[in-house]
Amino acid sequence: MHHTVFLSIGTNLGERVKNLQRALEGLAGFCRMEATSSLYETDPWGYTDQPAFYNLAVRVQTALEPDGLLKALKALEAEIGRVPGFRYGPRLIDLDILTYDDLQLAIPGLTIPHPMLAERAFVLVPLAEIAPLLLVPGLNETVQELLDKLDCAGIRKVMEA
Ligand code: ADP
Ligand code: MG
Repeated sequence: MHHTVFLSIGTNLGERVKNLQRALEGLAGFCRMEATSSLYETDPWGYTDQPAFYNLAVRVQTALEPDGLLKALKALEAEIGRVPGFRYGPRLIDLDILTYDDLQLAIPGLTIPHPMLAERAFVLVPLAEIAPLLLVPGLNETVQELLDKLDCAGIRKVMEA
């Protein structure tokens, strides 16, 4: 367990709290959970006629290499999100690698730090709660500095860590 990783966990379908709980339980199978942010709710945009998103961020330690970690996260997404009877059910859970140690990586199917990190307030708000001073590799700005440039309207804390 020697790599420090920040993950983003999101859901907007089904029983959202249950989805997140299953994700956290599943992660414990291949990560040591070290910090968990509060739970935040974000209004949907675009199609507003869908449930709001629930998002949180976690800091974990893992022995997995980046590609192995992504595989494990995708398997966990499938385990949580698979709807019996449907070949491609709706994805109930999104597990994203935000940062992995000081690594900068771009291989097919995996970019670290997460390419949308700096644009997504719903990712940065929970991340800033547990890692405000984290310097995002390649951006040379901290999580808090990145967040300060974004509009955080519509992001509400719904459950304290
Ligand atoms: P979203 O961009 O909303 O997270 P998906 O979860 O469907 O969308 O991700 C699509 C693909 O993004 C995944 O199949 C995965 O291979 C790829 N990907 C690239 N970089 C990352 C990362 N840092 N963390 C998670 N997935 C990533
Ligand atoms: Mg994803």
